[in-house]
Amino acid sequence: MTKTPITIARGDGIGPEIMNATLHILEAAGAALEIETIEIGEKVYLRGNTAGIEPGSWESLLRTKVFLKAPITTPQGGGFKSLNVTTRKTLGQYANVRPCVSYHPFIDTKHPNMDLVIVRENEEDLYAGIEYQLSPEVTSCIKLISRPGSEKIVRYAFEYARRHNRKKVTCFMKDNIMKMTDGLFHKVFDEIAAEYPDIRKEAWIVDIGAAKMADTPEAFDVIVMPNLYGDILSDVAAQIAGSVGLAGAANIGDQCAMFEAIHGSAPRRAGQNLANPSGLLLGAVLMLVHINQPEVAELVHNAWLRTIEDGIHTYDIFTDGVSTEKVGTKEFAAAVVARLGQHPNQLKAVAYSRNPVPPSAPARFTSSAETQMEIRGVDLHVYWPSRNANDLAAAIGKHAGDGLSLQMIDNRGVKVWPAGRAETFCTDSFRCRFMSETTASAASLIDLMKRVSDAGIDIVQTESLRLFNGQPGYTLAQGQ
Ligand code: NAD
Repeated sequence: MTKTPITIARGDGIGPEIMNATLHILEAAGAALEIETIEIGEKVYLRGNTAGIEPGSWESLLRTKVFLKAPITTPQGGGFKSLNVTTRKTLGQYANVRPCVSYHPFIDTKHPNMDLVIVRENEEDLYAGIEYQLSPEVTSCIKLISRPGSEKIVRYAFEYARRHNRKKVTCFMKDNIMKMTDGLFHKVFDEIAAEYPDIRKEAWIVDIGAAKMADTPEAFDVIVMPNLYGDILSDVAAQIAGSVGLAGAANIGDQCAMFEAIHGSAPRRAGQNLANPSGLLLGAVLMLVHINQPEVAELVHNAWLRTIEDGIHTYDIFTDGVSTEKVGTKEFAAAVVARLGQHPNQLKAVAYSRNPVPPSAPARFTSSAETQMEIRGVDLHVYWPSRNANDLAAAIGKHAGDGLSLQMIDNRGVKVWPAGRAETFCTDSFRCRFMSETTASAASLIDLMKRVSDAGIDIVQTESLRLFNGQPGYTLAQGQ
């Protein structure tokens, strides 16, 4: 078999030990890999590189397009950027895929029949990292959900389901509150689901969906969700399956894919031959499937299942009466190697397809070229330390003009003028909405801002308000 070049990083804490154990198993199983090693993490950060990765390392990643990464330690204190977020974003890894499976009765879980996959959007949402301080009292974080981003992740989830013979894709979101952002995600989900009639679809509001998942995870198969919900719930799912120490994850992009354990570098366990290498090993199994070595992936995965079933357990999953032998990292790896070629008896053996199902269609995006946009107004966020909405309305309202008039003022999304309620608590940051009955020009918005600013009112942030094909591209304030 021709060797596939991959890039690896041993990381920090328990990283080097679990990486060595994983590579030992992959080599014994006959994985055809040409391994390049790069250095990432704590040492790089502490050399003064705030990204935690040397510029030269990108060259290897972009060439091999496959990255097996051990966990790293992000030093405490400001200024250090999350390497995971940097890698995912720089390499356009839009999908985070995390299978969460229980191994009852060998690993303790309340959910013996759990077998679900979380497909998390990886680039957008509140993780765009666009935050502002609007006033001494108020901060904000922008939640970005795009149509192409949603189309990519939802299509990926359905393609994944088809490829892995999964029967249902569920969407988690909260469009009863975030009508525009999560509303778009839900709409795109419905549109794309219609292209996959062979796969069942359902949508849940994330709060009750999460409750259902924590209570009855066997009711789910593939769950697709925006970034933040996916970040939180994929840890919940891994934990209730048995342990966060067991799950591996894939970060998939069109250019480059990254495979990892979901846990961190567990510095307190480092260097003691204690750590469980299973998370990274299962991440490596996802990698073997990705680089089209399904036979090796199957060999490794089934030997691992047999090891778990034989009760050969590291300290983190060791249970008296169930486990038969408490082993260290190296001994665990040796036990997996000794079982290569064996299948589990009680746990379900895995089988990876030798002929991967080709994607049904190349990724394509709905064109937005035809969209008509029309300016109808502007929101001015102003700093108003007296916290009195009526005074603000009197001060700012008189600068209306060019067809723009003050329509409402809100505080943290709740309308406080006109006809605000005395009970509503106000901070020092208000949003003043000026609207026009007809199309407004960009110049009229700027003139309004100039008049308001010249009057000594401190404008902190603005958004223009538009109709998109006649539909409002903004939401109403609560109570408006
Ligand atoms: P952690 O996942 O490292 O550890 C949480 C707990 O789980 C600890 O008790 C640890 O001993 C145990 N544990 C984790 N993995 C284990 C394994 N393979 N075998 C046995 N026990 C295991 O989380 P943390 O303590 O919050 O974070 C430690 C460091 O890891 C931090 O610097 C954090 O930034 C980093 N981190 C890195 C990644 C990554 O690189 N992908 C992810 C999460 C956290």
